[in-house]
Amino acid sequence: MNPYEVLGVDRSASAEDIKRAYRTAAMKNHPDRNPGDHQAEERFKKVARAYEILSDPSRRDAYDRYGTTEDPGSSAGMGGMHDIFSGFGLDDAMRAFMENFGFSSAGSGPRVVRGEDVTVRVDLDLEEAALGGRREVEVERNVSCAECAGTGADKASGSESCRHCNGTGRVSSVRNTLLGSFRSVNQCNVCGGRGTIPRKLCSSCRGRGFEKKKSTIAVDLPAGLSKGHYIRLRGQGHYPGQGGVPGDLKLLINNVDYGPFKREEDDLVYPLTISYPQAVFGGEFTVPLPDGNSLKIKVGAGTCAGTRFKQKHHGMGRLNRRSRGDLLVEIDIHVPRKVKRSEKELLKKLEESPSFQVKNI
Ligand SMILES: [Zn+2]
Ligand SMILES: [Zn+2]
Repeated sequence: MNPYEVLGVDRSASAEDIKRAYRTAAMKNHPDRNPGDHQAEERFKKVARAYEILSDPSRRDAYDRYGTTEDPGSSAGMGGMHDIFSGFGLDDAMRAFMENFGFSSAGSGPRVVRGEDVTVRVDLDLEEAALGGRREVEVERNVSCAECAGTGADKASGSESCRHCNGTGRVSSVRNTLLGSFRSVNQCNVCGGRGTIPRKLCSSCRGRGFEKKKSTIAVDLPAGLSKGHYIRLRGQGHYPGQGGVPGDLKLLINNVDYGPFKREEDDLVYPLTISYPQAVFGGEFTVPLPDGNSLKIKVGAGTCAGTRFKQKHHGMGRLNRRSRGDLLVEIDIHVPRKVKRSEKELLKKLEESPSFQVKNI
């Protein structure tokens, strides 16, 4: 079988090209789409086998060099090509297909244990959200046991080889199906794939391999975060013990305090209340900026309520970009609830003077 021919790709095809060709061919010949069509089923299996070879750089390299995927230099401990090929049944093809395209597959062997994620909620002030910054957060999480270095074994008595898998950490089994028998190699579930078992459990962690610890972690905040965003720090979560990999630390933005500002995506709106005469005559006003500084702005004569003055690049930082949104100063005009008698008389005069007449239809 020439895997390049099966997938219809060139020998120089990129990994992405190969994946695309595989996806197309696998979808076309998928048993669900071709019920009862044995030829399609055979093609589906063949396509999966071809992809198995070409998606693995070392096997692809071996095929390119030797025309087979068996490495002639190795002493073929796993049964060699014949077992892999003759045993490649529909189940395996389906499983490969599911795994390659992100479906979960119950039939696959155990994977490396991954620790749980740790979520820390933080509230940000405007400056942190707008411009980014650095936050130190306190986290209580499971870390590798210092006494046994995460192995769970007592230091003095150490570990012994796992008898179930003869210390290899893997067990192989042969399954017979209508489409032939195939060999599968799974992680040993007695030793969890480590190949060793503690003679005596570590007394500090009681064999779990981890202990609770409080730590302070500095997290860089990018500019432009908002409520509900989270920052993921890979491998900074709980350590699951015994050879597993830690989960992630998730810094969840619980809330952002915008103070007097209102956020409109990457822009900030600042309501500036001015008096009625100021609106008529115009003037210079001071508005706050998200970084704590302030800015002087000019309001022209005859400005209506609701007018927005755009101050470019004084808004929120745009997430994952270098630019910033704008600050929009929105004019509101103060209307007194109560006026003195003398003011009332002045207003009465204004009401009747020609510039102050309003016509509605
Ligand atoms: Zn074992
Ligand atoms: Zn320990």
